[in-house]
Amino acid sequence: MNSVYASLGTTVFETMSRLAAERGAVNLGQGFPEDDGPRDILEAAARATLDGPNQYPPMRGLPDLRQAVAAHYRERQRVDLDWQREVTITSGATEAIAAALLAFIEPGDEVVLFEPLYDAYVPMVRRAGGVPRILRLQPPHWRLEREAVEAAFSDKTRVVVINTPLNPSASVMSRAELEMLAALCVEHNAIVVSDEVWEHVLFDGAEHVSMLEVLRDRTLKIGSAGKMFSLTGWKVGFACGAPALMDQFAKAHQFLTFTTPPNLQRAVRYALGKERAYFDAMRAGFQRARDRLVNALTAEGFVTLPACGAYFVSIDLPASGIAMSDEAFAKHAVEHGVATIPISAFYANPGAPALIRLCFAKRDETLDRGAEALVRAKR
Ligand code: GLN
Repeated sequence: MNSVYASLGTTVFETMSRLAAERGAVNLGQGFPEDDGPRDILEAAARATLDGPNQYPPMRGLPDLRQAVAAHYRERQRVDLDWQREVTITSGATEAIAAALLAFIEPGDEVVLFEPLYDAYVPMVRRAGGVPRILRLQPPHWRLEREAVEAAFSDKTRVVVINTPLNPSASVMSRAELEMLAALCVEHNAIVVSDEVWEHVLFDGAEHVSMLEVLRDRTLKIGSAGKMFSLTGWKVGFACGAPALMDQFAKAHQFLTFTTPPNLQRAVRYALGKERAYFDAMRAGFQRARDRLVNALTAEGFVTLPACGAYFVSIDLPASGIAMSDEAFAKHAVEHGVATIPISAFYANPGAPALIRLCFAKRDETLDRGAEALVRAKR
């Protein structure tokens, strides 16, 4: 077996969800909403399945859906996309990330990434032959510092991978940070793979700025219907970017999954017709859940980090008086009835801060039971 995969274990999300199920623990680990997205979207999928056709859609996705994706980003993010040449539908955002990295990285190319990072990135970069240059962001604000970012670039840099809002730190990159990064990409002839799957999950008035708005010709932006409509298992993603990037991207996509189930594409097409009020209500609901969990934990002496985007919040273990590593506490907490994610899962190198990530996209009683289990684990 090749060394990239031989050295890997099973992803922490799978491991923690399995442990939660085995132990009957509350699952605040893997990031998914406890309640499925709107009933009318589920009905649209059922109808689309029964009415058909259920045969291969076009490789870049159904024209109707690509038009809807372009219209959505035009309205909400001031990005004008040519749906025919600049939008491709993928089987989830993870497929889009894989296709982008396979399409854009040549063996030996350097790839700049920011830690903490989604666990799929670095193995994919390595498998594509890329050399990761990982820059560590620091809690509690996780800002991009110009000098450090500059130092991560070299004349071999070809790709930069960003994620905003950033999972797991729940921070949001500012326009100034994106502009600083964009200038470096132009200077070094690099492109950005911008994972924006949490673009609609924002709190306290935080604003999402798409890298596509800032660096139009050098950005491959990735979005996710699963995150937009609380249907994470559907695995319908969007890749958007300039025609030259998209043509190259599509060559990788066509030999990875080729296409995405047509019934789900038609249902997502329907879902994108939702008004702004739908997205506002989703955000308000998640924000209420965040506050409920954070208040319950704070009342018991836990210290949490700010959470402005994505449905995650982190507990600072040392500040909460817990003298255990994040992994040790996560194992211990499962025994007390709650699954969480140790933040070191989002670090490719040792020395992660002692934080555990909680997903708060859950019903009130689940959040309450999770908080109670954490209190028991802390004693
Ligand atoms: N994105 C989800 C999370 O961060 C997990 C995705 C997965 O399970 N692979 O928890």
